[in-house]
Amino acid sequence: MNRPVLLCHGGAGAKKPTRAALSGLEKVLKKSFKLLDEGSSALDAVSEAVKRMEDSGLYNAGKGANLQLDGVRRLDASIMEGGRLEAGAVIGLEGFSNPVLLARCAMGMTHKVLTNLGGAKIAEAEGLERLGPPAAAALKRLASAMEKGGDALELYRKYFSTVGAVALDSYGNLAAASSTGGVFAMLPGRVGDTPLIGSGVYADNSLGAAACTGRGEDILRLCLAKELCMNMKGRAAEEASRISFKRAASFAFKAGALALDKKGRWSIAHTTEHMPSGVASKDGVDVRERFRIVES
Ligand code: ASP
Repeated sequence: MNRPVLLCHGGAGAKKPTRAALSGLEKVLKKSFKLLDEGSSALDAVSEAVKRMEDSGLYNAGKGANLQLDGVRRLDASIMEGGRLEAGAVIGLEGFSNPVLLARCAMGMTHKVLTNLGGAKIAEAEGLERLGPPAAAALKRLASAMEKGGDALELYRKYFSTVGAVALDSYGNLAAASSTGGVFAMLPGRVGDTPLIGSGVYADNSLGAAACTGRGEDILRLCLAKELCMNMKGRAAEEASRISFKRAASFAFKAGALALDKKGRWSIAHTTEHMPSGVASKDGVDVRERFRIVES
């Protein structure tokens, strides 16, 4: 039997995380780790952890998702398990608050990656929870950021706050999941790393699991999640992450990732100032506003 481990993050970015975001992570880690500890699969644990973060409204995912340039929330998510390499993803989902649950449905379907066109129909058929219109305050924030434009808008765009989780269960299975509202005030139709298998998430029981956050345009050019997993071949997560993040930093990429190897060793690294995240195991829960910063 393996010692179960769960890692979660609330996004790598320029903004200091709020106390609520940090205590939210602690709660999610405690509750979702309990499942793992009681014998649930790694896949159930990451899906539950990400759903809880989507529901909290505290992060850029689900109920708290960023608005796009046209004031609409379109959500991306992906999920993967490392036993049979089953994976599913959803891109630009509108009107539903848990894209991670839809990504999980897609895992079991013939077609594994859905856009809103077919995805929303399946979400409806599955009875997934509806996402109401954005709050007036969020629309006001968007309008004022657009009005300021320039550096002020660019700064908001560095507040990545996507959510993600990776887990190892008692049976040796690894899984990863991620969910986002994308980058603040982004062009409708823009796709980042989060719903791209191999960029946003990857899991392979013979290697490890990884979930990424940061500027999608940077992460997807490295296929960072898959690269981290490949670097875990014969190496501990910490060493694999050192290699991958040295490379990310050399391009001045803005990124962060959770990495967990098949023996349960883990790493949380980022090139951004902050990455609220944490780990839960039988030793307890450790949440911090940043872990290992890799500078270029
Ligand atoms: N990676 C996400 C994206 O580019 C943003 C984030 O991590 O917050 O869509």
